[in-house]
Amino acid sequence: MPLFDFKCRACGHEFEALVRPASYGDPPLNCRACGHAELDQLLSSFAVSSAEKTRAAAAAKNKKAAAIGRADTIAMDREIDHHRHEDH
Ligand SMILES: [Zn+2]
Repeated sequence: MPLFDFKCRACGHEFEALVRPASYGDPPLNCRACGHAELDQLLSSFAVSSAEKTRAAAAAKNKKAAAIGRADTIAMDREIDHHRHEDH
């Protein structure tokens, strides 16, 4: 049986609960600390890690592109400066 993490919306208590596939979607669960019925199901570690990986890869790509763009601009500025000095 899959083990899921839940977080209570009322008190923030986090706990793990076994959820049978048949009852997945309407978990008859209540917070174990306060009994509140509104719970957020936290992502499984697998789902989190794959989503994080995708996000991290996209961020790294953007960061790299930005760094390259910035380096090009700096190089261009230096080039312009260089020519400007040569004119004098
Ligand atoms: Zn609670």
